[in-house]
This record gives sequence, structure tokens and C-alpha cells, in this order.
Amino acid sequence: MICEFRDVQRRYHDGDREVSALDGVSLAIAPGEFVAIMGPSGSGKSTLSNLAGGLDEPTGGHVVVDGVDLSAMGPTELAAMRRRTVGYVFQRLNLIPSLTAAENVMLPLELNGMSARAARAAARATLADTGIGQLCDRYPDDLSGGQQQRVAIARALVGDRKLLLADEPTGALDTVTGEEVLGLLAARATAGVAIMLVTHEPRFASFADRVVTLRDGRLVPQTRTVMEGVR
Ligand code: ADP
Repeated sequence: MICEFRDVQRRYHDGDREVSALDGVSLAIAPGEFVAIMGPSGSGKSTLSNLAGGLDEPTGGHVVVDGVDLSAMGPTELAAMRRRTVGYVFQRLNLIPSLTAAENVMLPLELNGMSARAARAAARATLADTGIGQLCDRYPDDLSGGQQQRVAIARALVGDRKLLLADEPTGALDTVTGEEVLGLLAARATAGVAIMLVTHEPRFASFADRVVTLRDGRLVPQTRTVMEGVR
């Protein structure tokens, strides 16, 4: 398994009130598996995604990524895991406007100590994989929304990341462009990257191998296959 949640709890204190964002969630994602996380607003989807990426810590249970329990990692190891194993794509792309597409994608590799030359070659190859190899030298402002999202996905995948966390990555895109981006994620899953997609759109969830639903911080027991979900 590339990512495992074992009886995970996440409680927040909101003033005097205790909010249980996740309450006993167990879920395992295999390498190359594309899992969509659905559920109403406030059901715990983003919390689950943040925990998988080591951006947040559970208040109970365990999150295991690539065989390592995140609670056993120190801050340095956790930061390295976040840069090397896991990639993130959000609705807000956070591309750096003063850097070209290729330079944006190179950045995480250079932070990992790769030479600029090797990083540039890897960035160009990954941008080609995401279908925009010809746009490497463009600046984000000169790209369409869908092209910018592809750059963000390339940045999240570059350097052979094993797990891609995508939290509403199509939120800012029209339906056709959103479906193209989902097709790209599905292709990356076929190539072996595990994908955890947070979405509230059944149309987008239908690209996944498996759809799981959260409600009030718990997994809804019956998981449906994609085709059953569509019917
Ligand atoms: P979703 O992504 O499904 O909309 P979230 O994971 O963002 O849900 O939130 C789950 C629950 O946890 C919500 O009730 C939300 O208000 C609460 N929550 C999330 N983050 C915090 C926080 N930092 N402090 C307090 N409550 C939070």
C-alpha cells in the first residue's frame, strides 16, 4: 500500500466546541490506484488529504505513507517525504508568475539538491507527459487555465512521486477542461502513481477506480464501484 489510514481520528477545538473532522477512518490506497473522495462540505475530505500529505497530524490512529508511519518521522524526514514521495495539486495553483512553466516544475527538484541541468531535463519530460511539452518556456500568465493546471500537475508529479493528492483540482476549470485534466490524472494512475482526488462532482469522480464517501468524518460503509455510481 502506498497510503494507509488506520483508525484515524482528527479532532479540532473550535473555542469550547470540539469538532470531530475525522472519526475512525480506515482506508488503504494501492500503488497506481485512483481513489476519489466524495462527501458533503465539512465531511472531512480536505482533512484526510492533508493528513496523507503530512500537512496535518491525526489526534488518534496512524497514517502510513510508503510503509512509514508519519508519526514516527521527525520534521526533517517529514519535509523530505513531502518533497519526494507526495505531490499536491490544489484548486489554487500557486504557480510562480515570474518563472516559466519549466522553471516552476524544476523547483521541487532543485530544492531536493538536483543540478539545474538534470532538473530542467526532468521538468521538460514531465511537461511533455502532461501534454504541454511545447509550452515549457511560457510564463503562467500566457497559459490558459487548463494549461496552468497541467503545469501544476507536472510540478506535483516530477521526480517520480508515488502519491498525488488532488484537492478539488478542477474547481477553477470549465467542465470540458476539467474532464481533460481528470483524464490526465487517470493516465498517470495507469502509469503507477496512486491518486487521491477530493471532489464533489460525480462526473469527475467517475474517472476513479474507486469512490469512497465521507459523511460527518466517517466513511460511508458501502463503497460503490464507479460504474454502479454512474448508473
Ligand atoms: P471538507 O473538505 O469535506 O469540506 P474539512 O476536512 O475541510 O471538510 O473539514 C471537516 C470538519 O473539520 C469541518 O467541520 C470543519 O469545520 C472542521 N475543521 C477543519 N479544519 C479546521 C480547523 N483548522 N479548526 C477547526 N475546525 C476545522
